[in-house]
Amino acid sequence: MTRRHDRVLIVGGGPVGSIAALLLARRGIPVTVLERAEDVVLDYRASTIQPPTLDLLEECGATAAMMSMGLVCPVTQYRDRQQGKIVEFDFSALKDDTRHPYRLQCEQFKLVGWAYPELRKIAGVELLLGHEATEISVGQDEVVVAAMTKDGKKVFKGDFLIAGDGGRSLVRKALDIEFEGFTYPEHFLVAGTRYDFKAHMADICSVNYTADPDEWYLLLEIPDMWRIIAPVDRRIEPDEAMQDRYLQNCLQNLLPRPEAYEIAVKAIYRVSQRVALSYRKGRAFLAGDAAHINNPLGGLGLNGGLHDVVNLTARLARVWHGEADLSELDGYEPQRKPEAVNGINAITARNKRLMEERDPAVRARNLDEWRRIAASRELAYQHLLETSMIASLRRSRMLP
Ligand SMILES: Cc1cc2nc3c(=O)[nH]c(=O)nc-3n(C[C@H](O)[C@H](O)[C@H](O)COP(=O)(O)OP(=O)(O)OC[C@H]3O[C@@H](n4cnc5c(N)ncnc54)[C@H](O)[C@@H]3O)c2cc1C
Repeated sequence: MTRRHDRVLIVGGGPVGSIAALLLARRGIPVTVLERAEDVVLDYRASTIQPPTLDLLEECGATAAMMSMGLVCPVTQYRDRQQGKIVEFDFSALKDDTRHPYRLQCEQFKLVGWAYPELRKIAGVELLLGHEATEISVGQDEVVVAAMTKDGKKVFKGDFLIAGDGGRSLVRKALDIEFEGFTYPEHFLVAGTRYDFKAHMADICSVNYTADPDEWYLLLEIPDMWRIIAPVDRRIEPDEAMQDRYLQNCLQNLLPRPEAYEIAVKAIYRVSQRVALSYRKGRAFLAGDAAHINNPLGGLGLNGGLHDVVNLTARLARVWHGEADLSELDGYEPQRKPEAVNGINAITARNKRLMEERDPAVRARNLDEWRRIAASRELAYQHLLETSMIASLRRSRMLP
């Protein structure tokens, strides 16, 4: 392939953009990453890394890094706020399907915090923080990005562009690609506390999905604290939900105690189920949240974004090194979009419906269905293959 600029541009240095950069750089492809923030963004969203993601990221070193920073969680529980534990699934059943038969809890900012210094060690990598992309153009044989910096506007040119600039992607909007789907009316609250829930709730494990018609919640153990994710009452303004009174109430409803909870981190998010109509315009490709977003129930969104760039960077490398022609890139969207639509979005939307079901008869049926699945070795195994994303990666032939 003849190249005009000898460089791939990446807009967004979040987890997807920085891992895309690393995967390309490790294959000898020069990259420029344009990141709006001045430093690693302390983002309290993703912490769950799924088994096949750990398998796929071994080669670039990210898996070893995350294993050293994360918490191994082999068991997941489905609970009901009134009835307590309903069922438990053990990822060890996947031991013949993955080299990592567990969920790893490792916050996304730790992955980015590891990736930046790794990128800086590699010749040909430009990691430009404080660079906010503002204009994009995609030509026959080049891509051009204008970015605002503290020294004014700068222009960058490259041969290909990867958009890793998140759900509100400027690149996706500039390329006029529709983001089909909907936004949930309620916000999602994330609160972190060092209170040791395991010491006081005898039967929980590290990953606990708890259904409730009024306030479902996800209680997660991460390396140095517990995280709760819960919906915010639609009548409450997001600002109010971030106040101590609301947060304390939420935690006291979960586990009452005489003292107030120490709240170490808090954040509030708008959540949508959307997938881009197209993942590509010419030499520009969408990946991660720029291409698909979903609710956090299942811990799948970031994982899917990382699978996107494993696929895309391998294709770009084959083209770059002359092992394939440009038509190689046509395979990206057909291989990746189905996982977003039929895997990630379908599973997370179903999980939310299960967690928040209000009709008592339907709720009872849902709990029975969980019990039926957990009681059968084969059904439990199939459930684990789906929820760990192994099944969808096999369907799309990203895994054997
Ligand atoms: C509460 C919650 C919990 C979640 N938990 C999980 C989980 O456990 N597991 C999981 O797999 N997923 C989870 N997710 C989803 C996950 O957080 C996202 O899928 C993930 O952050 C997407 O990564 P990304 O790099 O594509 O986008 P982002 O993380 O949004 O990063 C985008 C980057 O681009 C930069 N940027 C944006 N615009 C520009 C611009 N114009 N120019 C330059 N830079 C720009 C931003 O500063 C940012 O650094 C969760 C989501 C929520 C809301």
